[in-house]
Amino acid sequence: MTGLSDLPIRDDLRGRSPYGAPQLDVPVQLNTNENPYPPTPELVEDLAQAVRRAGAGLNRYPDRDAVELRKDLADYLGHGLTAENLWAANGSNEIIQQILQAFGGPGRSALGFEPSYSMHSIIAGSTSTRWIAAEREADFGLDPARAIAVIEAHEPDLVFLTSPNNPTGTALPLDVIAEVLAVAPGMVVVDEAYAEFARAGTASALSLLPGHDRLIVTRTMSKAFAMAGTRVGYLAAHPAVIDALLLVRLPYHLSALTQAAARVALAHRETLLGTVDALRAERDATVEWLRGRGLRVADSDANFVLFGEFGDRHDVWRRLLDRGVLIREVGPEGWLRVTIGTPEEMAAFRAALTEVI
Ligand code: PMP
Repeated sequence: MTGLSDLPIRDDLRGRSPYGAPQLDVPVQLNTNENPYPPTPELVEDLAQAVRRAGAGLNRYPDRDAVELRKDLADYLGHGLTAENLWAANGSNEIIQQILQAFGGPGRSALGFEPSYSMHSIIAGSTSTRWIAAEREADFGLDPARAIAVIEAHEPDLVFLTSPNNPTGTALPLDVIAEVLAVAPGMVVVDEAYAEFARAGTASALSLLPGHDRLIVTRTMSKAFAMAGTRVGYLAAHPAVIDALLLVRLPYHLSALTQAAARVALAHRETLLGTVDALRAERDATVEWLRGRGLRVADSDANFVLFGEFGDRHDVWRRLLDRGVLIREVGPEGWLRVTIGTPEEMAAFRAALTEVI
């Protein structure tokens, strides 16, 4: 019997486990930061038509440069961006992978401030990029002076900033990002997967793109756009950065069906993003409710809330699951993260948590 340990895999992969939150069939799934609202019948109908149109040409490879989709993404983002500034892939995870393949690799390093999105360090590992784990402050923000000092000490080839941050929900002020950009010797990646959920007044790093050819802003259609199943992520950067990514992307990485579906979703953006206000309101109410229970709760600019601290968080997680509510054990020891769902799902969460603690 051959097992994984019998195979000649890379030494640095030995002993690792595949990444992934549990995918369990429970009534209330609040563990992977999806948008809880399914596509409307109108969107599903338009998707069906788009599949029919694209289907007629599926004997041919898709547009390997996804030009029409990139035009639509540029139009959505605004900020004077054009298709030349945009790049798309199968989820922002693939975007992050392409970035690390082009700018990281053996002999190179990437630095991130933790707790943060763990795929940054995991993809650094799988691309043989040395990962430098720096720390966020106690309030999960960044102190510019300390952030600058750690960047100057390590001189990484890439710096990852996540804003709003997963799993804490913390947004970084634009001037902190600008200060990091001013000192970082290599590329600066701002992961804005949750940008659309940020509170009013939180500026996107997109506004820093003019004049900064080493800045990359990554986004996704998995969260606010409610299209996690489609797998579309994208980035905005100087056109030279996209030229670099063309050197590592697989030919035809984004299927014709994916490109078509993403364009339909962008055409429906008013309806899709219409759910964001309700989710923000539900998030703010959840923060208040958890604080009212005497818990510590991180301020959130995303569609999830990090709360704690529990002596045995796994026990709390387990007992919520026993009541049909799946949340996530992630972040600093003792904390838990709940994704914001529908009002009914959040009522179920509150009822279950009231029983558990
Ligand atoms: N960045 C952050 C901060 C995330 O939380 C996630 C998903 N949880 C991603 C990127 C990847 O999302 P996707 O691949 O679905 O675009």
